[in-house]
Amino acid sequence: MESKTSEDKWKKKLTKEQYRVLRKKGTEPAFTGKYWDYHEKGIYKCAGCGTHLFSSEKKFDSGSGWPSFDQPIDEVNVEEKLDTNYGMKRTEVLCNKCGGHLGHLFNDGPKTTGCRYCINSISLDFQPDAKH
Ligand code: FE
Repeated sequence: MESKTSEDKWKKKLTKEQYRVLRKKGTEPAFTGKYWDYHEKGIYKCAGCGTHLFSSEKKFDSGSGWPSFDQPIDEVNVEEKLDTNYGMKRTEVLCNKCGGHLGHLFNDGPKTTGCRYCINSISLDFQPDAKH
């Protein structure tokens, strides 16, 4: 159970919409986020705590309207949890450091891994690769 203090801390740190998605397991409407159609090279970090979650190298166009990846940078950085809300059996994806809700994991991804990490743009912060 999260303490009141930590709830207040998140409310201060995050925008209203980030708080709704990351801390209250909300979903941004498809095709509205900043990263579903974004193709720069770099790293997608947790918008809550900065943990490195996904690389642009593993991003693909899923047609879903959410940024999609076939694997995380490091499996220890994400937590996968059974989600039975809305009468569906889905796998929820969370930041393993701050517990922020990122999105869901489906098994209809590209053949490379078969995984589709379907992530809310608003849960992510993009850090471009350093230019040489
Ligand atoms: Fe985090």
